[in-house]
Amino acid sequence: MISKILVPTDGSKIAQKAAKYAVKLAKETGADLLLLSVIDKRFIVSQSIPAIASPTHLIETVEDYLKQVAEAYTKEIKELCKRNNVQSKTLIRTGHPVEEIIKEAEKSKADLIVMGSHGKSALKAAVLGSITMGVIHKDTRIPVLLVRK
Ligand code: ATP
Ligand code: MN
Repeated sequence: MISKILVPTDGSKIAQKAAKYAVKLAKETGADLLLLSVIDKRFIVSQSIPAIASPTHLIETVEDYLKQVAEAYTKEIKELCKRNNVQSKTLIRTGHPVEEIIKEAEKSKADLIVMGSHGKSALKAAVLGSITMGVIHKDTRIPVLLVRK
């Protein structure tokens, strides 16, 4: 019933906790894991650098740097998968996290999405993080499992 699990991660402690839960679940069900990290385009353009000082090459440099950071934090989960004989694949995308998560889940025909209730801004977020809220409110039939902080 569960043969592919999509695990979106932002590298936060809670997302890593969710990923570890997903590895255990994958081991028990024999599912494959798809690790997805989205470089938030809104963040690159509007917050880290003012638009006026954002020539394309600078944005690309920031994007490359963020991709390297994402590679590094997904590596830990990839290794955990290897140790547990769970097949895994890492994807790094650029765009809006909610859109990319749903797009990838549909495209790869994931049976389940496992993610954290919160992410990097866990301290200030009240009920649920905005990416989690976005994903559970999207029009999709794919179930979502939330790992609490
Ligand atoms: P907010 O971002 O709304 O201020 P937050 O950072 O605490 O609050 P979310 O960003 O919603 O909460 O994070 C919840 C979960 O969503 C994370 O545990 C992770 O699974 C997933 N997630 C968040 N950001 C990304 C991202 N850029 N790429 C992939 N998955 C993400
Ligand atoms: Mn966040």
